[in-house]
Amino acid sequence: MDVAPPQELISATAIDARVKALGAQITADYAGKSLVLLCVLKGSFVFASDLARAIDLPLRIEFLGVRSYGDDTRSSGVVQITQDLTRPIAGDHVLIVEDIVDTGLTLSYLRELLLARGPASAKVCAFLHKPSRSIKPVEIDYLGFTVEDVFVIGYGLDYAERYRNLPYVGVLQT
Ligand code: 5GP
Repeated sequence: MDVAPPQELISATAIDARVKALGAQITADYAGKSLVLLCVLKGSFVFASDLARAIDLPLRIEFLGVRSYGDDTRSSGVVQITQDLTRPIAGDHVLIVEDIVDTGLTLSYLRELLLARGPASAKVCAFLHKPSRSIKPVEIDYLGFTVEDVFVIGYGLDYAERYRNLPYVGVLQT
């Protein structure tokens, strides 16, 4: 069965410009500090790798594997850690890099978990935000784009583990 290609919502060019602007802002804000980029797997791996290269500071990258229980398109807010950090973050300035903040349940859970490990600070950089679906408001310190209440794919985001390698953000056409 042929499947229609995803409909483009945010182009690769627009993403590139936004990520570079975020990188410049983070570079200015964290100058002279020990920065740890904390990439939340799997969805933020593409964003985190572009963002890291847009930040002109010495930094460490850590990966946190999480799986949120729920069906394919809805998060339940119950998060399982599937891969923990390789080093302590006590005393470090941690920037949590998320793919998308939807209900906010995952991020608020993760932020509490990380704060318990004693970082000097824990801020959030989210590629996308769907404010219309917020259940647990979380502060997003750096944001790529706001999107409507649609299920988006591409640039790291999947549908049933597919489409993560799309260079743009799109929506599946039905
Ligand atoms: P939240 O806990 O904020 O509701 O959801 C967080 C997680 O749900 C995201 O990190 C992402 O993995 C998944 N998610 C939420 N909305 C979307 C979406 O529109 N597309 C995709 N691919 N994943 C989403």
